[in-house]
Amino acid sequence: MEVTRRLFFKLTGTLAATSLIPGSKTVWAAEAAEGSKNAYGCLVDTTLCVGCRKCEQACNERHVLPKPRESFEEMTVLENERRMDETTYTVINKYYPKNIGSLTWRNRPTFVKFQCMHCMDPSCVSACIVGALTKQPNGAVTYDAKKCIGCRYCMVACPFQVPAYEYDNPLTPQVRKCTFCFQDIKDGGLPACAQTCPKEAITFGKRADLLSLAAWKMKSHPGKYVDHLYGEHEIGGTSWLYLASEPFESIGFPKLGTTAPPRLTEAIQHGMFQNFAAPIGLYVVLGGIMWVTGFLKNNHGKKAQNDPVDKGDSP
Ligand code: SF4
Ligand code: SF4
Ligand code: SF4
Repeated sequence: MEVTRRLFFKLTGTLAATSLIPGSKTVWAAEAAEGSKNAYGCLVDTTLCVGCRKCEQACNERHVLPKPRESFEEMTVLENERRMDETTYTVINKYYPKNIGSLTWRNRPTFVKFQCMHCMDPSCVSACIVGALTKQPNGAVTYDAKKCIGCRYCMVACPFQVPAYEYDNPLTPQVRKCTFCFQDIKDGGLPACAQTCPKEAITFGKRADLLSLAAWKMKSHPGKYVDHLYGEHEIGGTSWLYLASEPFESIGFPKLGTTAPPRLTEAIQHGMFQNFAAPIGLYVVLGGIMWVTGFLKNNHGKKAQNDPVDKGDSP
């Protein structure tokens, strides 16, 4: 039998669903939470960013990515909102103030650096049926191309639409996204973008310390920041955290709840497995209904054949 790509995904999806034993992901979540105590993160203070694109360039060079069409000195690219893709792990976008309001810092554009948020409980990791994505104890969400089967579930699952796929690479396509410079931080270094930023708009450190730093900044500069640290609670928290003087919805951030999507989906899976009897019972009832319906139809058909009134003979 020819195993088509669609059938392969169907089979692997089914296998994955059946292998999701209740509790297995819970153990993983507990391990992740344990690791997250010492995990690193980055605090981006968007009020300090001047949109120089040096972080974009540093990332491009660090990861030996293809050179962009427009040079990193070209600032007109900031006039259009951009997204990360398979050749660009991070972008700076420029947002003009929509409402100056009472905040003094809202009289200039806000520049925002986007990349993978390295979620605390990542949807991409949960969605990946072959374990090609891993939440590392140091906070990075890493990718193993050797395990990847190219299903692209991670792209659908990511609430920030970050993972990009190398569609132009027919032989060895990979999923691409910010690596959090995993090897560098593992070796005691900094992410290239944080190291390069001339305005120190990106602070790298333990996530727990960054939360304290952000709280201190907000308290020490009343009126400078909106009262919201993006990433502290969104979808269970992210390793990258943001301070801003504009509401986050107006500077390109999606409005998200506080529950990590994997907690919701896994709760549903657990419910299905725990109440496995219920679906079986339902199938029995449905089967019964279908049998009775078929029986009545047959009976009605036989009766109709013998009954001239039912043959439509009456006016
Ligand atoms: S932002 Fe998207 S790709 Fe990055 S860790 Fe979160 S879910 Fe995964
Ligand atoms: S495409 Fe994404 S979800 Fe699919 S195997 Fe690769 S990393 Fe995992
Ligand atoms: S952490 Fe590393 S991979 Fe991610 S945007 Fe910064 S330089 Fe690029």
